[in-house]
Amino acid sequence: MEKPEKLIVDGKRLDGRMPDELRSLRIEAGVLKRADGSAYVELGENKVLAAVYGPREMHPRHDQQPDTAVLRCRYNMAPFSVEDRKRPGPDRRSVEISKVIREALEPVLFLKLYPRSVIDVFIEILQADAGTRTAGINAASVALADAGIPMRDLVSAVAVGKVEDTIVLDLTKEEDQLGTTDMPIAIVPRKQLVTLLQMDGHLTEDEFKRALDLGFRGCAQIYEVQRQALREKYGVKEE
Ligand code: ADP
Repeated sequence: MEKPEKLIVDGKRLDGRMPDELRSLRIEAGVLKRADGSAYVELGENKVLAAVYGPREMHPRHDQQPDTAVLRCRYNMAPFSVEDRKRPGPDRRSVEISKVIREALEPVLFLKLYPRSVIDVFIEILQADAGTRTAGINAASVALADAGIPMRDLVSAVAVGKVEDTIVLDLTKEEDQLGTTDMPIAIVPRKQLVTLLQMDGHLTEDEFKRALDLGFRGCAQIYEVQRQALREKYGVKEE
């Protein structure tokens, strides 16, 4: 990637956004016929599909838990999702991301309702431009709701970070690579509970507080779009 001279010019980012602005976001619920629940998310140049199966009997059986369902998540990047073809199949990064996505979603599910069962969440990254784990969480939580699985709330997620001393919302790949800090977060909006927080780079305590606050505000906007996608699918009128 050719390094641009500056990532922020006259207070605006290279794609014209203000520091506190999200990329354009589109969410559609129920896009796959054969999954129990599904959702498609476009966030800027990211294109992400989530499919949910279950709750259903856990196979292999020795992975069954007698008192609870197990949430299984698989985050996968398509070979054509990035500039240089990505080698297909799991790698260290996707295994780690699958784990943090599972941990971000688990707190909203009533897994104890379904002993010996499994809920499978497949997240397929069709096109990547930074923020795929958070876009994946947004898609997965709408897909879980679309599958009719009881949930305390949705989970909303976004990355915040620091680019040339400015705290920004929803970093592009260029900002992620050339900026100083990338901090993806996921929250349960109604409880204001943080279920994922990672940080690549560093922030001062004051910057961290401002970044977290910006992330919460970004998640509130995403939450509305997630709810709207479910309302559209189920024909629920505006409140
Ligand atoms: P996230 O997508 O959640 O921001 P990372 O910070 O690890 O996760 O990745 C940032 C971006 O870097 C990805 O969205 C993608 O555009 C790019 N990327 C990640 N892994 C690869 C890869 N193996 N090959 C090419 N680009 C990649």
